[in-house]
Amino acid sequence: MDKQRIIIDMDDVLADANKKILENFNLANGMDLKKEFFADKSYYDFVHQYNYEPVRQKLFEPGFFRNLEVIEDAVEVVKELHEKHEVFIVSAAMEFPNSLIEKYDWLGEHFPFISWKNICLCGDKSIIKGDVMIDDHEKNLVSFEGKPLLFDAMHNQTLKGYQRVLSWKEVHQYFFS
Ligand SMILES: [Mg+2]
Repeated sequence: MDKQRIIIDMDDVLADANKKILENFNLANGMDLKKEFFADKSYYDFVHQYNYEPVRQKLFEPGFFRNLEVIEDAVEVVKELHEKHEVFIVSAAMEFPNSLIEKYDWLGEHFPFISWKNICLCGDKSIIKGDVMIDDHEKNLVSFEGKPLLFDAMHNQTLKGYQRVLSWKEVHQYFFS
């Protein structure tokens, strides 16, 4: 495979925002749901029947994006992609202006091999060009001119029409086998 420019999203691709969001949803609603609960249903249709505003508010609070866990195998696979291809981390961070420095610091902690020159914290991703985009949201993949890969997440289980990767192991297989 020729050297590819690979566009990688942060939330729910590198950083496990869903885990924290689901914890906050459970807290706000006295529930104990697991991600697997949404395997056969629309996450958004479900949660909007419940108390969701405090869950959304948490996204604007300091610390939310700084303290997310890294998704399994992301560091190892992104490091190998970075060595053999050209990797850009692209996050539509402007929706949450407080997140900018937190995302930058989070990447510095967990992905120190990614230069600031390869980090793009932006608004609308339709301006982004590359060969492959790995993202969990259709709104980002739909206008991408290269190959879109849908990263599996609890809120995109019912989305069809994209090649879905279930894990970073599967991303590795896509590029290296
Ligand atoms: Mg995302």
